[in-house]
Amino acid sequence: MRLSMREALDYKDCPQLYKFRHVDFLPERRDIKSYFKQKLRQTISHYYFCMIDKREKSLNNIFSKWEQLWFCPEVEESFQESDIRDHSNKAISLLRNFHQYTKDERIVPVAVDFRYEASFDGETNLHVTGKIDLIKVLNDKTRNKETDLVFFSYSNHMPDEFLSKININTAVAAYAFRKNFESRESNVILCNIGKKHETVIQMTGSDFVRAKKILYNIAEGIENRIFFPSDNKQKCGKCSFRTFCMNEKAMEDRDAISKRHDN
Ligand code: SF4
Repeated sequence: MRLSMREALDYKDCPQLYKFRHVDFLPERRDIKSYFKQKLRQTISHYYFCMIDKREKSLNNIFSKWEQLWFCPEVEESFQESDIRDHSNKAISLLRNFHQYTKDERIVPVAVDFRYEASFDGETNLHVTGKIDLIKVLNDKTRNKETDLVFFSYSNHMPDEFLSKININTAVAAYAFRKNFESRESNVILCNIGKKHETVIQMTGSDFVRAKKILYNIAEGIENRIFFPSDNKQKCGKCSFRTFCMNEKAMEDRDAISKRHDN
């Protein structure tokens, strides 16, 4: 079975959401935050691509890329001008901080947006595809040479160390890196764009065993079409399928009532 990391994470968050998005292909309205995250990450990727291509990675270059990505018809036609402007100001401040913290780093980016496929052997073979935002080699004379896998996020809070360690996204990515490059990463780094501190974690064999168990359970659930709603307040609170979810519940209630009448 083939599974993308996005599909696995959606199923883990809520099997019913997985069904709406990946089985029923229901239409989904993206909010401004989702565009914001996407464009911010693309701007960060651009910064590292510039390093690989030995092009200018100045602050002005980053700002121009951001503006080119953000002020596009897709965004301008979907949201109010004041919201677009506010988000842009926020991005400019985050990117300024990001540049300030990273400009003097002695690193060599090895790959940006690296797409991997990880194979897990079991009763059924499972192939999981995903992406590592950045693979970098640190060439700092004060430290040993390090190869780090970096994942960027944008949030008001720093990524929690424990939650990051049990996150299947980072565990599977590290597993795939080891298989693809026949070498071990030094660290997995969760970088909160615009914040100076990073969360640094080390993956061990038990993290991979745990991730594999979760993935196999997800794959089994999908294969057996087990799609139930979650009661995760956080996920439901920002779910774009809430109307469909309520309709599904209303239909289930109606079926239950008519079954009672038939009996
Ligand atoms: S509203 Fe909640 S239960 Fe319904 S699909 Fe979304 S996340 Fe799942």
